Amino acid sequence: MARHPKPQGLIDYEAWLAKGPPRYCHNCDHYGGDGKCLAFNVYVPFEHSQMADSCPTWIQELPF
Ligand code: SF4
Repeated sequence: MARHPKPQGLIDYEAWLAKGPPRYCHNCDHYGGDGKCLAFNVYVPFEHSQMADSCPTWIQELPF
């Protein structure tokens, strides 16, 4: 006997986890509380703040 095939819902969930979060300024460690990007030392334009996965400098470090 062997296990039944993995359910598609679980496969989809695991793929979603592996991909990681969408990369916005709002979940980037460089985004200051005043809306300034600390990596580029400029205020982030609204349009850019609404675009996912558009910045190669996005970073989210471990909280320890
Ligand atoms: S590094 Fe990129 S993603 Fe992060 S706050 Fe600056 S512009 Fe946004």
